[in-house]
Amino acid sequence: MPGLPDYEASQAGEGDDVPVGGTSNPLVRVLLSRSFGAVTRVYVSANGPFRISDDQGNTVVSGTSETVAIVSVVPDAITPGTYRVQASVDGVSKIFPTSPLLTATTFSGDTMIQLGATAVTKRQAYRGAAGFSATTSGRVRVVNIAGLEEYLQGVVKAEIGGSAPIEAMKAQAVAARTYTVHNLGRMASEGADLDDTTRSQGYLGVSGETPAILRAVRETRGQVIVYNGSPIDAMYCTECGGVTAQGPPSEPYLRPVTTPGCETKAPWTLKLDAKQAESFAKSVSGVPLGSVKSIAVTKTDDSGRATEVTLTGATDTRAVSGVRIRQVLGADILRSTLFTVKSEADGGFTFTGRGWGHGLGMCQCGAIARASGDKPESYSQILGAYYSDTKVTALTPDMIRRAVPSVGPSARAGGKLKGRGY
Ligand SMILES: [Zn+2]
Repeated sequence: MPGLPDYEASQAGEGDDVPVGGTSNPLVRVLLSRSFGAVTRVYVSANGPFRISDDQGNTVVSGTSETVAIVSVVPDAITPGTYRVQASVDGVSKIFPTSPLLTATTFSGDTMIQLGATAVTKRQAYRGAAGFSATTSGRVRVVNIAGLEEYLQGVVKAEIGGSAPIEAMKAQAVAARTYTVHNLGRMASEGADLDDTTRSQGYLGVSGETPAILRAVRETRGQVIVYNGSPIDAMYCTECGGVTAQGPPSEPYLRPVTTPGCETKAPWTLKLDAKQAESFAKSVSGVPLGSVKSIAVTKTDDSGRATEVTLTGATDTRAVSGVRIRQVLGADILRSTLFTVKSEADGGFTFTGRGWGHGLGMCQCGAIARASGDKPESYSQILGAYYSDTKVTALTPDMIRRAVPSVGPSARAGGKLKGRGY
């Protein structure tokens, strides 16, 4: 990887509890769009010596723990209408006009890069290195480049919280590791593999690390879920609503699983009055249907989720998918496709449903329930319950090479939404 001559991905020691052989720690590039998605400058420091280099490996800035460098975007003098990044310290700019990418690296695996969006906000610490490039709209694109294991230390808390039982945290670590390996290269057009939002997985950097989370990652180091020998697309969800969703035919390990922990949560409802229903029916079907006479779930998958909904209006009738309805109403408004619809006396309609999200794969609510109580399940039992006919095994370099070419952005275009939040 250009610009990272000093960074060793496998710097972390081998855990004592790890199955021997075949462990691997590939670099993961995480687009930090949650914290740095719309900034024109980034404040960069470290808790020890660091340097910012161009894509040829030339040092642009050398810093100590006292240095705060600013990486910002400037118009490109050679190609009008485009931008490039520059670095400055104490007001002195260092422009390397031929470098589209600057990389901040430290000299020791124990030193962390600290990044802030403004001069006064507390800078957030990240393990590994940070890459900076300019977007076409003149913003700084910030990518954290960390070893897979160090990256996961910042994912678990963002995804399942800091107080889940240890076996649930371990299940989360293995699911997130597998999801990451399967999706390496997914955001290649943005110079990244994944981002730190619900489009992929939450990620907090060093601020997400707790003793329990470090233990969960360490004790599952290098372990992934495989089906027919390949790491699976380990989707997981917050609340399945009592039963997980049916995956596509290409992912036979995602099957409906009845799960404890979610069924006790109160169902959600969404009301549309007659006028809202008419406008919704037009938006979702693409044609005016007139005043809506009925909204009926006409097909479901094996988990009971609505796969087809028929809208009957005064002038026309249309069938649409449940996923399409969530897209139109909003994924956080109509929380899942596990719903029923009832018509109201006033001409409106009420959706009543359970769960929140796509419902695919491991349910975090259910994982916590399974890891609690008198007979807590182990992380491998939990994963075995949610990912049918799979096994947990050691990640090998061979698995990583196979994963990369299969998940380019084009392979995702037009497919179902794959992010965590949907
Ligand atoms: Zn659940």
